[in-house]
Amino acid sequence: MNSEPQLFKQIKHLAAELASDQQVKEEHKFELYKSEEQFVRAICESSDGLWDWNLDTDEVYYSPQWKSMLGYREHELKNNLNTWTSLVHPDEKYLVLDKVQDYLSGKTNSFEVEMRMHHKGGHYVFIRSRGFKVTSHSSNKPSRLIGTHVDVTYSKKTAEFNIRNTMILEMIAKGNPASEIYIEIGLMYEARHPGLRCSMLELEGNRLRHGGAPSLPKEYCEAVNGLEIGPNVGSCGSSTYTGKRVLVENIETDPKWENIKHVALPHGVRCCWSEPIKSSTGKILGAFGMYYDYPALPNENQSNDLTSAGMLTSIVMERDQNQKRIRDLAYIDELTGLASRSHLYLSLEALIKTSARHNRQFSLLYLDLDDFKGINDTLGHDVGDLQLQEIAKRLINVSREVDSVARLGGDEFCIVVTEIDESYNAANIAQRCLDIISSPSDVAGRNFIQTCSIGIAHYPDDGVDLQTLLKAADTALYSAKDQGKNHISFYNKNLTKKAEYRFKEEQYLRLAIENQQLSLFYQPQIDIKTGKIIGVEALSRWYHPQLGQVSPIDFIATAERIGMIKPLTEWLLITACAQAVSWKKAGFPTMRMAVNISPSHFIDSDFVPLVKRVIKETGMIATELELEVTEGAIQTNKENIFIFQQLKGLGVLLAIDDFGTGYSSFASLKHLSVDCLKIDKYFIDDILTDKKSQLLVGSMIEMGHQLDHEIIAEGVETPEQFSLLKKLGCDISQGYFFSQPVNAVEISKLLKK
Ligand code: C2E
Ligand code: CA
Ligand code: CA
Repeated sequence: MNSEPQLFKQIKHLAAELASDQQVKEEHKFELYKSEEQFVRAICESSDGLWDWNLDTDEVYYSPQWKSMLGYREHELKNNLNTWTSLVHPDEKYLVLDKVQDYLSGKTNSFEVEMRMHHKGGHYVFIRSRGFKVTSHSSNKPSRLIGTHVDVTYSKKTAEFNIRNTMILEMIAKGNPASEIYIEIGLMYEARHPGLRCSMLELEGNRLRHGGAPSLPKEYCEAVNGLEIGPNVGSCGSSTYTGKRVLVENIETDPKWENIKHVALPHGVRCCWSEPIKSSTGKILGAFGMYYDYPALPNENQSNDLTSAGMLTSIVMERDQNQKRIRDLAYIDELTGLASRSHLYLSLEALIKTSARHNRQFSLLYLDLDDFKGINDTLGHDVGDLQLQEIAKRLINVSREVDSVARLGGDEFCIVVTEIDESYNAANIAQRCLDIISSPSDVAGRNFIQTCSIGIAHYPDDGVDLQTLLKAADTALYSAKDQGKNHISFYNKNLTKKAEYRFKEEQYLRLAIENQQLSLFYQPQIDIKTGKIIGVEALSRWYHPQLGQVSPIDFIATAERIGMIKPLTEWLLITACAQAVSWKKAGFPTMRMAVNISPSHFIDSDFVPLVKRVIKETGMIATELELEVTEGAIQTNKENIFIFQQLKGLGVLLAIDDFGTGYSSFASLKHLSVDCLKIDKYFIDDILTDKKSQLLVGSMIEMGHQLDHEIIAEGVETPEQFSLLKKLGCDISQGYFFSQPVNAVEISKLLKK
């Protein structure tokens, strides 16, 4: 600092003058002298600016430090009061002058102010000014004011920055929206660096999305929003692409901006530095951009701030993206991408409100796949999932954009049909659903025909609030199922009665199974060649005092629905086996006991151990127990094959019930060790009148025999059917022709005959 000697000289001179001016008591004089010494030393050692204002002439001495603090050289500023008045911030000029006045008049006993002063570079700097008055002994009036200037811009800005930083952390902690916090972050850094403009961009897939940019023009932000990232897509498109900081000194000439500089230059954006924003795991979330309207590269402070801005923004962005994901998870069904149950409920509530206001109607379709459980149980959940995805696609296809399609869970879907008119209404969209769902699908290399049932409720006729409406649609769905599936049913008030019945039935059945109030009937199976009873099929019966005789088709399905099929089967197996053993003990000839097993229970891991236990506990001979399962359970996946093997290992017989009606084929028999095929009653019914049925039954018998299976015909009602079956080579007959299912006592009687 070449101006220091001069300053020193000046201060020495001032101090000397001060000393000689003080015509006071000795000790006082000494004290003053000491403080002046300290003052001089302090000034010389520090980089403070010095000023000396002659109150009589308004001449002001400004030290070179004083001037350079504001960006000026010694000769560029005149030594008069005007220099100060022209440089101080206009808002603060009079405040400062008032303070001077107060001090000079003795109202206050010190002078210290902070003010903004204009810097030659165009910005303001914060100056702290301190001074003391020098009183002329002769007039006893202040004649001069001497003081210092300290540039406090940095600490002032740091303090301001810290306050803003704390506020931002508070906003993060409180969970303010990310867009609000982005603006505050931008403003905080912009306040610290005059002329700076900031932007925060989020990465969505491979595109940039506007996050926040408090000072950049809207048009520029819009132009950047949606840009696909790449190695040469401006600064932020490149930094998000490479994961590395990108500093572009001059947008006009940098090749990275070649293709998009036309969106930046018209807005005065000349340089752009971009820091990739990374998550705690290092994933690129977006970019923080710093812009100036002149070409430049960051200095050390700016560079450090770019780093810290990226880090601060990453906290907000990561939290925001996590929250979005959680929201999406709750509102989107992950498997199918359809709206979730929560989403459906929210949008229905909103729809009910607007429909009420505008007097509009809409319909709710509840859709449930028929026998989907069978697919899951027999082919595994992976195949079930694929099937659900396929169904979701089809439902989207039949509905319009204004309709919303949701998956409620499992195999239940819902479609909300709005803007109904004659050609477009719930009934015809439901019909289209039935059609499109039942068209064959190819899932995991298997051909499926999936059907569904649909219940329909209307707003406002069937309910004006969410709960009632949902219940109405659900009730209608049950009625569609009751009609034999692949049906559509509209809600009507009578259905509520059915729903109530179903509810009662569920309660009573649970009790009945727990208290073993079911009974077993037995239907004989006749060897067609000898006419002798070679076995019986056990069939469950349930009589309830209030409900009367309930069909097993009904209560078996109910037991599955309420999860009571396992205790039911256990009771059934024990009762049937115990009965068989007791007949044997009574001396009746050896015969087998056939028992029906629900497919879902058959493939349960508890099932084989249960059979083993029952055989042991009842003393049943394994080879005299026959398990009947429908075709649904004989799909050839690994688990099923294993269960068949284990059961065969125990020695029990296995029969395929309702053979010919399911979606399996002869091919699956190849892998499964089955003893017996029970040709469904459906084929036997018109075997006498329909050539095709006769041919089919004939082929089933022939092919079955070739595969070493015994053939049973069910539902044989007439002697004609019996003799035709005999002619076709069928082994066993079961049906009303010989006997209806009867109780154990009746069977004993039959056996005695
Ligand atoms: P299924 O196993 O196919 O049983 C044959 C059904 O046909 C029985 O009806 C039987 O009474 C009836 N049936 C037998 N011969 C004739 C005939 O000549 N003409 C006519 N019209 N019907 C005949 P049921 O007892 O009502 O049982 C119906 C279904 O309920 C059974 O079909 C079976 O799938 C199921 N089921 C019955 N009991 C049980 C059980 O204890 N456990 C399981 N899992 N299912 C059972
Ligand atoms: Ca059966
Ligand atoms: Ca059957």
